[in-house]
Amino acid sequence: MKIFSLITYTITGLLLIYLTRRTSFKKNVLMERTLHYAFICAFITNIAYILLLTNGGILYGRIIFSIVAISLDWAIFFLMEFCLRFVSRPASPKPLHNFIRIALVADSILLFINIFIPFAFNVIIPENEFRMFLTYVLTPSWYYIVHLIICYSMGLFALVSLLLKLRNSSRIYWSNFFWIAIMLILLIFWDIFCRFVTFIPNITITGCSIAGVIAYHLMDYTIPKGLNSTLLSLVSKEINQPIFFFGADNNCLFLNDWAENLFPSAFKTDSTKVYFLLRDYLHTEQPLISDFSDEITVTTDYGDKKYYRVDSHTFRDNRDYLLGHSVILTDQTESKKQMLQEQYRANHDSLTDAYNRDYFHAKCRKMLDRYPDEDFLMITSDIKDFKMINDILGAEQADKVLVRIADILFALCKDKDVFGRIGGDRFALLMPAKGFSEDIFIRNSTDMIHFDGAISYPVNIYFGVYRIDDKNLPIPIMCDRATMACNSIKGTSANRIAYYTESIRYNTIRAQQLSAEMDIGIRRKEFKLYLQAQITPEREVPGAEVLIRWEHPTEGLLAPGAFIEIFEQNGMIAKLDYYIWEQACEVLRDWKSRGIDMYLSVNISPKDFLFYNLFDVFTDLVQKYEISPDRLRLEITETAIISNLEKTLTLITKLQDYGFIIEMDDFGSGYSSLNSLKDIPVDILKVDLKFLETSRNQEKGRIILKSVLGLARDLGLPVITEGVETEDQVVFLRENGTNLYQGYYFARPIPLEKFEKTFLID
Ligand code: C2E
Ligand code: CA
Ligand code: CA
Repeated sequence: MKIFSLITYTITGLLLIYLTRRTSFKKNVLMERTLHYAFICAFITNIAYILLLTNGGILYGRIIFSIVAISLDWAIFFLMEFCLRFVSRPASPKPLHNFIRIALVADSILLFINIFIPFAFNVIIPENEFRMFLTYVLTPSWYYIVHLIICYSMGLFALVSLLLKLRNSSRIYWSNFFWIAIMLILLIFWDIFCRFVTFIPNITITGCSIAGVIAYHLMDYTIPKGLNSTLLSLVSKEINQPIFFFGADNNCLFLNDWAENLFPSAFKTDSTKVYFLLRDYLHTEQPLISDFSDEITVTTDYGDKKYYRVDSHTFRDNRDYLLGHSVILTDQTESKKQMLQEQYRANHDSLTDAYNRDYFHAKCRKMLDRYPDEDFLMITSDIKDFKMINDILGAEQADKVLVRIADILFALCKDKDVFGRIGGDRFALLMPAKGFSEDIFIRNSTDMIHFDGAISYPVNIYFGVYRIDDKNLPIPIMCDRATMACNSIKGTSANRIAYYTESIRYNTIRAQQLSAEMDIGIRRKEFKLYLQAQITPEREVPGAEVLIRWEHPTEGLLAPGAFIEIFEQNGMIAKLDYYIWEQACEVLRDWKSRGIDMYLSVNISPKDFLFYNLFDVFTDLVQKYEISPDRLRLEITETAIISNLEKTLTLITKLQDYGFIIEMDDFGSGYSSLNSLKDIPVDILKVDLKFLETSRNQEKGRIILKSVLGLARDLGLPVITEGVETEDQVVFLRENGTNLYQGYYFARPIPLEKFEKTFLID
């Protein structure tokens, strides 16, 4: 029968070796080591049991039994230590713990002494092999009871700490402690049972080992079952994005609350539906069982848009079989909407909501590329005198005008039309040629009146049209061509639409060229003062008008008609005029020094009013050149006066007070009524015969001229008549009381030197 014991102990030994090798507690070396010590001690006990199978005499028996008792002591101790560590309470309760340790050491020593003085137990060898499984039988004395108390109290201590832990832990962690506690209880009962039953070998250690193996496999130290999914669902609740997990068969295994909210009842009713619902919801062409990341726009039942990033992942086992897949939606609606808004702001004009310049260019290019066979027009608009609207009505009203025009033009747009604001008051439209109707454009957008409460102001829009004959041209050039056409419409023209032609391009290029050359021209003194004498009825010459000529190095002598308007358009006239005024002052200073008492009249462009404080300019000039202000006469055109009446009137009065003589140039060319003459404090009226004496109706012209001269006389305004070419005219004028004549009949504009030679008698 001892062979049965041997087999049992051998199996126990093997189990212990297995446990020592296998048990591992990741990241907790201390726990692992403690448990291994327990196994080693148990192993020693086990070996001792094997040795007890042979008969070696009484002392031998006592030695081995002492080893059994001591190693068992320590095995239980380490088991207890392990349990305490396992429940994470290694240090508590400290005094009791220390007491147990001291008791244990004392017990070991006493058990060792027992080899020599058997006060704890003794052994006997039963003669009649009453006990079949062991050679020796232990006969306990009183101390052996103490020893057992120490052993059991250690076991109980471990058990109590486990039970306490169980009480304070989430159920999910019970699997960890539960099995150990069960095993401990079983072991304690088993050991007690073994002590009182003598017909089987002591297999406490064997029980221990078996219990160890079972507990090790049942408990789940690192990841308790269900913990993962519980934690996962809790975590995914925190993550506020819909998360779906599907099995290999597309069955929905898990979805968090956010996902559930997408299709409320679906998951509860049928988990197989979720996959299809999700696919329908996302309208995606991608199969969801694949690894991809995509941005998807979803229109909800309520019609608003949602923007998601969809991240789909598949999971496979190590043999590459599909385990399942996940779909995670990231709601990017807020950021996307913000981005779209920013994009809109970056691409659109904030005032009118039209495309801005760059975006307009890009959109046009796309449109032209998309319809390569269609004929397109590029149309740009210009608001007449927008600067004036700005000045007179103020920026706020001017903005309203722009918004209104943008609305009107936008309303004219059809499918393929692209509409943008390409500059301050300039809009541009790209449209198919066949969709364009001159009539509709003119009817809808020209001659509108801007009303705002009390203010009403006429707003005129002009259009330049470029028929796109070369689609490869850069869009800005197309716009430039339309703009060139638009600019070619003269301010007073009744024509509201102009088409781009080569000659317009030629003129524009020429204008650019002359503008580029002006500065050099001034520096090289190519601009010359030509003087045209003004003659009294007594044929005396009291002064002359300064008329500019450009002695252009390649183009020859250029009359003002070739360049004044160009420079007026781009504002360069201001610089040129100042140059002329200063030259005139220099001549006057020279004349003054030579004792010549003649005046010069200089022309002031309407544009000069925008650039200069003319009062400061002229007073500074006469002071600098030390000339009397009445020697520098100032010709202001009727247009300049009328277009900003109030401001100009104050300026004129100030200049007059200073001593300047102001002439109203080109009277009768603009839109002033004879009636307004009485309100304008000019000193002299300049009447150009060419405006009044039309060749077609000479008689009518004469009547008008007569009445103008009469009115001037009645108002006490001296008149200079320009453009006098014939004897006839002189006679008529003399009869009607003109004070001064200017015209080819008397003298043409001539260079300064020639003028001096002809008219100055030093
Ligand atoms: P404006 O001030 O009305 O000058 C009179 C124009 O009539 C001059 O033309 C002159 O040469 C021309 N003229 C004089 N007598 C006769 C005549 O009997 N018959 C005809 N058919 N024409 C006559 P011009 O010199 O070509 O100047 C044209 C315009 O250019 C001027 O008209 C004036 O508005 C402008 N201009 C000339 N010089 C300057 C200047 O220095 N600054 C500015 N801003 N404008 C200037
Ligand atoms: Ca003039
Ligand atoms: Ca004139």
